[in-house]
Order: sequence, then C-alpha cells, then structure tokens
Amino acid sequence: MNHGGKDSQRISRRVALCGTALALGAAAIAAAVSQAAAQEKISQADATYQGTPKGGQHCDACANFQPPNACKFVQGSVSPNGWCQLFTPKS
Ligand code: SF4
Repeated sequence: MNHGGKDSQRISRRVALCGTALALGAAAIAAAVSQAAAQEKISQADATYQGTPKGGQHCDACANFQPPNACKFVQGSVSPNGWCQLFTPKS
C-alpha cells in the first residue's frame, strides 16, 4: 500500500490549482488598476478650462464632452459653453 504517493499527488494538484487561481486574481487586479489609471482626470486648471467658448470652440462641440456637464478628461462639472486646451472637435 502506498497512500503517501496518492496523497502527495493530490496535494501537488491542489497547489497547482491554487496557483492558477492566484494568477487569475492578480490579472483581474492588474486590469482593474490600469482601468482606474485610464479613468483619472486632470484638474480644470491643468486643462486651462474656462467657462466660456474660445474662438467658436466649446465643450458641447467637443468629442470629450459627456452631457449634460461632464468631460472624459477634465474633473468636475463643465459647461456646454466651456472650453479647454484638450478640445477635440466631434467628427
Ligand atoms: S473642451 Fe475640454 S473640458 Fe470641454 S469637453 Fe472638451 S476636453 Fe472636456
């Protein structure tokens, strides 16, 4: 009778499964962290945001504008009539 061999096989299989679960968990965390980093916004001051249009450009005509008053890249509330240096015309 050699129960020791079967037991150690069972244990090493469990260790391998556990390692896989840990690796998958780490990958999920890494994905969540990079997503959070991608969603970081810059301050209105850094974007040189102003509450008025500039040369006919305004948030409402910008591809980054998220109605009614948010922006993909700039923190806080932005006006549809505002503007910043990240202005990108809607295509
Ligand atoms: S002009 Fe600037 S603040 Fe306004 S929506 Fe575009 S990127 Fe955002």
